[in-house]
Amino acid sequence: MKVLVTGGAGYVGGTAAAMLLDQGHEVNILDDCSTGYADTVDPRATFFKESLLDANAVATSLSGCDAVLHFGAKSLVGESVVKPDIYWETNVSGTRILLDAMRAAAIPTLVFSSTAATYGEPKEIPIAESAVTDPTNPYGASKLAVDYMISAQAKAYGLAAISLRYFNVAGAFKSQRGWLAERHNPETHLIPNVLRATAANPLKVFGEDWPTKDGTCVRDYVHVVDLIGAHISALSAAIAGSHEIINLGSGGGYTVKEVIAAAESALGRPVPYEMAPRRAGDPAVLIADITKAGKLLSWKPERDLQSMVGDALASFQ
Ligand code: UDP
Repeated sequence: MKVLVTGGAGYVGGTAAAMLLDQGHEVNILDDCSTGYADTVDPRATFFKESLLDANAVATSLSGCDAVLHFGAKSLVGESVVKPDIYWETNVSGTRILLDAMRAAAIPTLVFSSTAATYGEPKEIPIAESAVTDPTNPYGASKLAVDYMISAQAKAYGLAAISLRYFNVAGAFKSQRGWLAERHNPETHLIPNVLRATAANPLKVFGEDWPTKDGTCVRDYVHVVDLIGAHISALSAAIAGSHEIINLGSGGGYTVKEVIAAAESALGRPVPYEMAPRRAGDPAVLIADITKAGKLLSWKPERDLQSMVGDALASFQ
């Protein structure tokens, strides 16, 4: 199979491209490297260093492809609040251009990188795909708008589509070229920040007065290798004229303090941290109901928190 991976110079998209290539598939990558890195791009892929907003470049990058894995997006919640326009432009207009180009080239299958941020503040835990979607920031709203666009495209034009709503992605993949580390600038995610904390620059734990077992927030962490495994299954599970939305997490959760303990065990030393005020927009608990992923994709995550922390650590060294 030949697959266009948008966002293939990023952490999750780069992992997808490398896993597909390792499995013998052909890969085109479209990424403007605005947040990704050209050196993440696997040399076995054909690389188009172009923007999703450039319709001609998108059409060229689709040449000969059977399917698209669409990761290319702006994805920082805080940035989306202060610069919402770039979220509408890249995430919504960029996907609009991609959908048009896929239709023109008669490419039948799309797997889209959606997010748990489409649900907003959860009313029930665990969160099923049938939960109310009420995003609390423009990032989640832009991804939800794309989910609506894809549903309409599937119904009107017969696209086979699956949106995968990620909870907290962590860990790293070791491809034939070595580790593909998570590299964000600035880094806001917990696990990289825990592993990089020093006495001079301790981890800030955002709140210890949440209604959880130890007062810190609970999140549902899923290993990036398990996550991409679900994408590869979704490529063959998507059905023409149908758009399915499927959560990807582990179905369980860990507190921030439990993540710190797992990191201490991987590092073999204490993690310096200090308590800080709650971060705006953080819900207390986010846990995915992953029943649908099991049914439609025959998928279940295989890697635990210790393996996510251990692989992230190995990828940083
Ligand atoms: N968190 C923290 N310190 C950090 C980064 C994150 O205490 O430096 C907490 C954050 O408040 C949340 C959890 O760790 O409860 C996971 O945050 P992350 O940014 O990794 O993912 P999110 O859940 O926001 O998608």
